[in-house]
Formats: sequence, structure tokens, C-alpha cells
Amino acid sequence: LAKADGRNCSRVFEPSLGREIEARLGMSNKLRRALADNELYLVYQPQYSLVTHELTGLEALVRWRDGQGRLFMPGDFIPIAEQHGLIGRLGEYVLDMALAQLAAWRTQGVPLVAVSVNVAAQQFASGDFVGFVLDALRRHAIGPEWLELEITESSLVQNTIRTVSQLQTLRLHGIRIAIDDFGTGYSSLSYLDTYEIDRLKIDRSFVSELETRSSRAGIVRGVILLAKGLGYGVVAEGVETPGQLAILRESGCGYAQGYLLSKPVMPERAAELLRSPERPPHGDPILT
Ligand code: C2E
Ligand code: MG
Ligand code: MG
Ligand code: MG
Repeated sequence: LAKADGRNCSRVFEPSLGREIEARLGMSNKLRRALADNELYLVYQPQYSLVTHELTGLEALVRWRDGQGRLFMPGDFIPIAEQHGLIGRLGEYVLDMALAQLAAWRTQGVPLVAVSVNVAAQQFASGDFVGFVLDALRRHAIGPEWLELEITESSLVQNTIRTVSQLQTLRLHGIRIAIDDFGTGYSSLSYLDTYEIDRLKIDRSFVSELETRSSRAGIVRGVILLAKGLGYGVVAEGVETPGQLAILRESGCGYAQGYLLSKPVMPERAAELLRSPERPPHGDPILT
């Protein structure tokens, strides 16, 4: 089935809805098995302080390599997991892996930084999400200060009192909350001081146009000021050029993440970065 569908998927003309549904079903069954067979793993993208130039955090990003060695990116399977009721299990699996990694690094004497884990809106909707997070921290004997949860802005906007109260409880337990993809979710300014959060992550789509659209630079500067006024930290995501980094730093942005500084890396490489005394990327004149 996979082989036959693989061909049809790449056909641009006459997409047949039946086939598409069949392919998705095939994919969701594969994903269900992948969760059981431990085919998912995490890569880690460094976040650097623009003030101290230190590596201050790692974002955990999920990857899936199937039995035939094919690599799938989150965009290929997170939506399928969401539509087929698998996102809860996937999310728990990811959180567990991230905390297990922190515990393993601690055992190896690797200096730790906080790990940021992405959380889908649906994870708040069903079951006892807060209970799972607290229990996972306990199982791995990891303090809450080592965990940041990233919630997309759009999932907060579609959200409910229930989500807000769960965020509040998590924060009361010392877990940090970041709003991911900020600027893309039709946010209204009136929301900003009602969220229970610690950091805003400015979406890559704003960062990528910083040098080419001066209006974007204005927006980004304004968002940074606003966030600071509310006591939130600001992370810029998707920083790819020295010019973008310079504008962000001049604008008072606290943290940056992006290919310019580092792509997401395997845990072994992340451990090297954590161990190295100069934590900024080696010999990078931008951060040093
Ligand atoms: P995100 O949380 O906004 O993560 C950032 C994405 O941008 C990552 O893609 C990262 O590899 C990519 N990126 C980082 N720096 C750059 C850059 O300089 N240039 C460009 N072009 N891209 C950059 P990735 O890993 O494909 O993840 C895509 C999205 O999938 C994530 O966006 C997040 O929303 C979602 N995701 C990833 N892992 C998980 C997970 O474990 N659970 C859930 N629920 N969602 C996840
Ligand atoms: Mg994220
Ligand atoms: Mg993001
Ligand atoms: Mg993003």
C-alpha cells in the first residue's frame, strides 16, 4: 500500500479524495505502530542569550524515521496525529523522551539547560495533562525549572478557560510557558496580559522579513517592547542572517534561535555544546 500510494501522492493532477483518505489512514496506522516501535526521536535546537551570548535552552523537535529508513518531519505527521486521536500519546511520548534525555545528561555530568517541549492544543482538551506533566517530572526526578512548554498562539486563541487554568497550575508548579509562533494566530492585544506565560517566541515569518520590510522591523520592535513591559522574555525563531540578528539585538530581543546559530542537532551533539566552555557557536563572530 505504501508503495502504491507513494506514487499517487506525488501526482499533482487529478488528486482523488478517496486515495487521499486511504493514504492518510495508512499513514495514521503506520504512526500508531511507530509510537509502539519507538521510531520517533528528538533533535534539539539551541537557543542563545543575546545578552550573555550563552546557550540558555534547547527546543526539542520530534522526528520519525520509519522501518525503511525514511525520515518524516513534524509537518508530515503532527496534523495526522491530531486528526486521528494520536496527538495525546505522541505528546506524552515526546515529553517523556525529553525528560529522560535531561536525566541521562545529568547522570553523565553534562551541564543542563532548560528544554522546551511543544504542546498541541488538543493535549489540554483531554485527560489530565497537568497530572501527566507533574508525574513525568517526578518519574525522571527533574525539577520543573528545567522544563518549558511551548503552546502556539492559535491554540491559546481558540482556547478555553480550561486551558488557561491548566497553564496557571503548571506555572504555579514552576514550569515555564512560552507562546510559540507569536504573531500568526490572530492575537488581540487584549489577550496579552491575560495569558499566564513567561516568554513569547516571535514567529519566523516576521524574522525572515526583518531586513526586507521595514514595517516588519517596526512590528518586531514594538512586540519586543510590549513583551518587556509585561515582564515576558522574547525569543526570536528562525534567525538565518547576521543582519536579522543585529536588528533583533538592537531591538532588545533577549534570545535567538535559528539556522544561523545552529540547526537542530542530535542529542550527542547537543551534549557537546552543553559541555563546551564557550557555549556560543564556535568562533562565531556574531555572538562573540
Ligand atoms: P516550531 O515549534 O515553531 O519549531 C521551529 C521550526 O522551525 C522547526 O521545524 C525548526 O527546525 C525550524 N527552524 C528553526 N530554525 C530555523 C531557521 O533558521 N530557518 C528555517 N527555515 N527553519 C528553522 P520542525 O522541526 O520541522 O518543526 C515544525 C513544527 O512542528 C514546530 O514548529 C512545532 O510546531 C511542530 N512540532 C515539532 N515537534 C513537535 C512535538 O514534539 N509536538 C508537537 N505538538 N509539535 C511539534
Ligand atoms: Mg516550538
Ligand atoms: Mg516556533
Ligand atoms: Mg514556528
